[in-house]
Amino acid sequence: MRIRVLGCHGSQLPNYNTTSFLLGENVLVDAGTVTPVLTLREQLKIDYIFITHAHMDHVRDLMFLADNIFYSKRSRPLYVCSAKGVLDSLSKHLFNNVIWPDFSKIPDKKNPLIRFKVLVPGRTQVIGDLRVRAVAVHHTVETMGYMIESKGKAVMFLGDTGPTEQVWRTAKTCKGLKAIFVETSLPDAMTEMARKTGHLTPLSLTEELKKLKGAKPDIYLYHMKPWFHEAIREEVASISDRKIHIIEDGQIIRV
Ligand SMILES: [Zn+2]
Ligand SMILES: [Zn+2]
Repeated sequence: MRIRVLGCHGSQLPNYNTTSFLLGENVLVDAGTVTPVLTLREQLKIDYIFITHAHMDHVRDLMFLADNIFYSKRSRPLYVCSAKGVLDSLSKHLFNNVIWPDFSKIPDKKNPLIRFKVLVPGRTQVIGDLRVRAVAVHHTVETMGYMIESKGKAVMFLGDTGPTEQVWRTAKTCKGLKAIFVETSLPDAMTEMARKTGHLTPLSLTEELKKLKGAKPDIYLYHMKPWFHEAIREEVASISDRKIHIIEDGQIIRV
């Protein structure tokens, strides 16, 4: 599996893009930064987008991607996949004909550009060439982590999350699990803010990783708020019993 990091930060500044990962050529996990990075040709290859949650830093470029694909007159739809509650939020608050046109009814209801595909948390579904399982995590709004399997190898994307349980149980028992992408948004000095906003710090990350028990997938950290990048990096350096990588925009990871 080839994973291209289009953006991996918890906010936006020059050279700091918000979250989106490209898997192979036609699958995205989140759409925080897509259209400023991918060429039009690359954008037109996208078939499926797995959305962790409806916060703007994870969905912003759904709007511009839909617009770009629409004018290309591509015939096949763009599948936007998540739990029902997350998709309902996108319909109600984003594609609502106020903030942006409702591309789930454009050009017409029978052949829309965007098709919302509901994933049932806890159930593995085959989507394209992948086996995908959404697992609920703990954030301030409904949020899904994703276990994505291809050819016997699996990768997990945890989305934004504070301390949580189910997703670690799923990870612990997955034999082919090679990598976990997990957030660390704030430094330990902001533990209380992290608790209130449903995020992790290096200290709470350390506690979360203990839930993996003996499983030792590579850990890829992302979603740092740019302001705290250095402080988090220094604190994470003290976690010695795991293979931890702090990822950067533009990086390509092969699993
Ligand atoms: Zn976020
Ligand atoms: Zn969030």
